[in-house]
Amino acid sequence: MQRISVIHYGEIALKGQNRVFFERQLVKNIKRALATHHYTKVERLRGRLILYLAAQASEATVQTALQQVFGITHFGFGVISSRDLDIIKRDGWDLLRSCSFDSFRVDTRRADKKYPLNSMQVNREVGGHLKELCGKPVDLSAADAALHIEITDTGVFLYVGKIPGLRGLPVGVSERAVSLLSSGIDSPVASHMMMKRGVNLVYAHFHSQPFTSPDSQENAEKLVETLTRFQYASKAYFIPFIDIQKEIMANSPAKFRVLLYRRYMVRLSERIARQEKARALVTGENVAQVASQTLSNIRVVGEVTQLPILRPLAGFDKDEIVQLARRIGTYEISTAPDEDCCSLFVPDNPATKAQPHWLTEAETGLSMDALLEDAMARAEIKTFKHTAA
Ligand code: ATP
Ligand code: MG
Repeated sequence: MQRISVIHYGEIALKGQNRVFFERQLVKNIKRALATHHYTKVERLRGRLILYLAAQASEATVQTALQQVFGITHFGFGVISSRDLDIIKRDGWDLLRSCSFDSFRVDTRRADKKYPLNSMQVNREVGGHLKELCGKPVDLSAADAALHIEITDTGVFLYVGKIPGLRGLPVGVSERAVSLLSSGIDSPVASHMMMKRGVNLVYAHFHSQPFTSPDSQENAEKLVETLTRFQYASKAYFIPFIDIQKEIMANSPAKFRVLLYRRYMVRLSERIARQEKARALVTGENVAQVASQTLSNIRVVGEVTQLPILRPLAGFDKDEIVQLARRIGTYEISTAPDEDCCSLFVPDNPATKAQPHWLTEAETGLSMDALLEDAMARAEIKTFKHTAA
């Protein structure tokens, strides 16, 4: 008996001409998420994928892996059956009896119009048979269990269950962006949200070593490792920032420090974007979460780059962000103690409604060109690979 998983992908089915491109990326990502001993092939069928499980595959492992692949709306496990109705009944019962339920329904889709029974007739035939076997009622609108039968010209696929996926789009279909990743709670969640839209991320982390301990970089590395589960391979830049901070501290007003740090982070990230052919930056900024994140301040930070800055968390509450961080597995790492470079030398009264010309004036006293070059030259680039389940 060939075991399969039938995988659905709502949104990408709607993408018209691009559909094949989206489907191929999804297939590629599923293969990267799963070790080769779990499957023999993945087939693209109209509007869904059929994953052929290897004899020794563990459904639990496959389920966990599929639940981390962006682009999947839901999936279920089943078998390849036959065009013979008696065999469909037998296989259907085998699948249904393994579920616990009080009511059930049969849901047939007949893509192959040459099949002698239409889908209503198959529902009635198979449903009637299963009802006799299990003694439980059919409920068409609110059944706890559904047996799905898909009749196509390449085969008859049976499956049960509707295991929810992450939704979104397959990572890799939406170009590349540079994500500014601190070791805090917000930026990993922002990164996750952009990957959900198919964006491939390169990470930039700024550290103040040796002035601070290596903890923030180590935590950022752990975050990239965790996020790589969703992207399969990532590159991260770890950029020494302390000399730039010292120049800011020595030669500009204290109340602009945080904003100046951010502006130089954005400028360096833009250089990385150029190097990596990335088309946007991503930050974990959130309107009014902290004093520095007023609209005015967000504006003066964004002003130093031509690239769009995506801020997917702009409208979220902190507890919503924390919930997401827990769900994606970054919360524990983000709350581990470390010293962020931006908490260094921060004054008691930072500017909250900065005006653009204040910052451009503050920057006239800084000699940054050589320091920026040097930071880029000394950046440490690391690559991360996901180990398939
Ligand atoms: P986070 O929880 O992501 O640290 P935050 O709420 O602490 O965010 P800020 O410290 O103001 O907010 O940082 C705003 C954004 O700037 C971060 O979400 C991140 O995108 C970027 N950022 C801050 N510090 C760093 C850093 N050391 N390296 C890379 N990016 C950073
Ligand atoms: Mg932070």
